[in-house]
Amino acid sequence: MVKKVHIISLGCPKNLVDSEVMGGLINQSGMRLVDSRDSADIVIVNTCAFINPAKEEALDEIFALVEEKRKSGRSFRIVVAGCLAQRYGRELLAEIPEVDLFVGVGEVGNIVRHLAVFDKEKVKRAAIITKPDFLMHAGQPRFMPAKTSSAYLKISDGCSNCCTYCAIPAIRGKARSRRPDDIIREAQILAGRGIKEIIITGQDTTAYGRDLPGRPGLSSLLSDIASIKSIKWIRLLYAHPAHFSPDLLETMAVQKKICRYIDLPIQHIDDDILKAMNRKVTSSKIRSIIAQAREIMPDIALRTSIIVGFPGETPKKFERLLEFVRETKFDHLGVFTYSREEGTKAALLPSRIAEREKERRRESIMTEQATISHTINQRLIGSRQEVLIEAPSDRSDYDFMGRCRRQVPEIDGLTYVKAGQARAGSIIQCKIIAADDYDLFAESIN
Ligand code: SF4
Repeated sequence: MVKKVHIISLGCPKNLVDSEVMGGLINQSGMRLVDSRDSADIVIVNTCAFINPAKEEALDEIFALVEEKRKSGRSFRIVVAGCLAQRYGRELLAEIPEVDLFVGVGEVGNIVRHLAVFDKEKVKRAAIITKPDFLMHAGQPRFMPAKTSSAYLKISDGCSNCCTYCAIPAIRGKARSRRPDDIIREAQILAGRGIKEIIITGQDTTAYGRDLPGRPGLSSLLSDIASIKSIKWIRLLYAHPAHFSPDLLETMAVQKKICRYIDLPIQHIDDDILKAMNRKVTSSKIRSIIAQAREIMPDIALRTSIIVGFPGETPKKFERLLEFVRETKFDHLGVFTYSREEGTKAALLPSRIAEREKERRRESIMTEQATISHTINQRLIGSRQEVLIEAPSDRSDYDFMGRCRRQVPEIDGLTYVKAGQARAGSIIQCKIIAADDYDLFAESIN
């Protein structure tokens, strides 16, 4: 009988791409990927573990599955893959006996071979944790929702930066860039599947190519992707400011298909904190990238992420950060409270900040940002925006939901559109007629 497999994908878009590759390989092998866990013979939880809340979410999901299996009496297998398995698989093998298999991030390409263990009469539980050196390639099939018109394109894996708070280099290994020809081939495959929007991901996309012969750069890669006719939008996530070069802004300015949107994770603005974080960037470089980007492209949308409560963040240093947020007016901003991760250098730093104080600082920034986002969204009323139509609206007063160039899937809100008729996957010209803190509302002007 054909084995049915269900994958639960947690965490970031980079992990989602791993889930899609595992899904593609599973389908190709003769097993069948299914939408619901209810009929599955094997359930894979592809986990995230970069900070404590992500670990908690992953463990909650695993224990919910264990409970479901116990209550239902069904005999499906539980497999835990991804970052949690890579980081803690050996310990968890002893602690959660209901999980049949732990598979680390280095084994994404071998998932079918590992699942074959369930064909045997007697299954030996195991944690397969190997060197995290897997790098996907265009020849590997990806399983994606049939109706999607956007896809992530992972141009590299791992990270060599060693920010002192971050466990990712230890989990995912050193930075490995894919060859440009392989990336272009995948972009062509995605275009052939009807994808209109390519979203470039990697742990540090601006470091792309530094580990490859000839050091091919991100700008030429983006231009090559833009030359694929049916790809209409390209956008860039995780652009580390330390590796940001001015030619990238020039490419964005001239290449119409590249969305004028930069996700620039700054993490902080105080130079002492940036140094203690080992971000390899100064506040003046961050300020200069933002100023240049806005000078060259006044309509650019900027997103950033920030960590509050890093050890040594005095009230004065925090005030500096808050003031920077106030004056810079990012279009989108996410704030994390510092998470003390074992094995990282920052975990050993003195002058730790109490959890309640970290939370208070997070809330202060979020409150400030809510006002900023509201003002920016209000200013967009009356502007003309392209909208990628994604689905029928879940609001009765609008026909469709989609996103404009200023909005990344899942994190930036939606644009609701009155359009009478439109096809999912089409890009239509709209006028913004209303806005709230998060979403935009538009009518078609086609
Ligand atoms: S750039 Fe820093 S924060 Fe981002 S993955 Fe690499 S080490 Fe972690």
